[in-house]
Amino acid sequence: AAAHVVVVGGGFGGATAARYLRRYNPGLRITLVEPATQFVTCPFSNLYLGGLRTWESITHGYDAIRSEGIGVVHASAEDIDATARKVTLSDGAVLEYDRLVLSPGIDIRWGALEGYDEAAAELAPHAWKAGPQTQLLKAQLEAMADGGTFVMSITDGAFRCPPGPYERASMVAHYLKTNKPKSKILLLDSKETFSKQGLFRQGWEALYGDMIEWISADNDGKVARVDAGALTVESAFGVTHKADVLNVVPPQKAGWIADRAGVTNETGWVPVNGNTFESAQVGGIYVVGDATIAAPMPKSGFCANAQGKVAAAAITADLAGQEPPPASFVNTCYSLIGPDYGISVAGVYYFDGEKLAEREGSGGVSPLEADEAFRRAEATYGAGWYASISADTWG
Ligand code: FAD
Repeated sequence: AAAHVVVVGGGFGGATAARYLRRYNPGLRITLVEPATQFVTCPFSNLYLGGLRTWESITHGYDAIRSEGIGVVHASAEDIDATARKVTLSDGAVLEYDRLVLSPGIDIRWGALEGYDEAAAELAPHAWKAGPQTQLLKAQLEAMADGGTFVMSITDGAFRCPPGPYERASMVAHYLKTNKPKSKILLLDSKETFSKQGLFRQGWEALYGDMIEWISADNDGKVARVDAGALTVESAFGVTHKADVLNVVPPQKAGWIADRAGVTNETGWVPVNGNTFESAQVGGIYVVGDATIAAPMPKSGFCANAQGKVAAAAITADLAGQEPPPASFVNTCYSLIGPDYGISVAGVYYFDGEKLAEREGSGGVSPLEADEAFRRAEATYGAGWYASISADTWG
């Protein structure tokens, strides 16, 4: 019988792995397990908040994947027995696998930030998984009065999409400037620096004047406690900030099914072999995307997609009794500051024999000195990137 590969998670990493397994090995049996019948992307969800994208335009279905002869099961994986090579699903079905791919994304570490639990997220959304949380945040912005304050608390440590909070601030600023120009944005950061900082701050000043205030950790920006009912946060040194809309980007960890599979370590994330993305702890299980420890690669959809392809190639080789091909990855994170104002950071990564490394002389960020035409071009490239990565991942 044909070998069976089960893929858990139909987001950037999992859907890509399933489709590339099919391309590399047309005879393989492949089953994709994903509870949602439609996937809403975090990429460009900030543009939805800014009023530049519709909900439909960031939503993708699984018909194309199904039409390629991949079994798509809408259930969640509840348990994994790595010894018997079995996955138990929420509908009671048990899938036997020869190789397993996990791309479960992130989960929130509820309570790691004092006061921020699941109930608090219904009042002060994180919107760090695209879906109802994103729509809640948008509704709150729309209900906010002109002159209100949008407060964002930003975590430190490893988190999904390093430039994401700052693109969100930009897109919220665009919405407020257009609709509620007396409003303010306060960013309370647990870090001292952030991704593409010089470029973001330059763009904010050019487009939004002093609407956005960023407070770093060394200026008491780190939030120690959240009171979602009162819409207040308290800083590490005891200063209280009151919000009209409160957005919390909280501490994160690998999606919980990774714990069940025994592939996470004490950090809550998944160590992998950087050449194959096979778990460093459990043979036969490949983990890709945000759940993994893959620094210097960031936790991005583009990286999850690239890692999905590397894992698919490694599994194909392994099932054929061959050595895995040498892994190489590329990533670009575009951020939109205004409708015609884009910036980016890019990198090329490889496995150096011991660990993942960035290819010297590759990548980098957009130049600080650039004219309007350059920023406009990058905004266009960002839209092109979104169209092509979506087509590559979901068809
Ligand atoms: P996901 O894409 O989240 O997919 C995980 C899937 O697994 C989900 O569909 C989930 O339902 C499923 N799942 C979880 N548990 C189970 C289970 N037990 N059983 C079955 N299925 C399960 N990245 C970029 O490259 N460019 C951007 O511009 C960008 N912008 C972003 C903006 C924001 C605001 C945010 C929050 C993120 C952004 N990202 C961006 C990051 C990107 O969203 C993630 O890096 C990417 O989604 C990671 O892919 P993944 O496959 O690891 O997880």
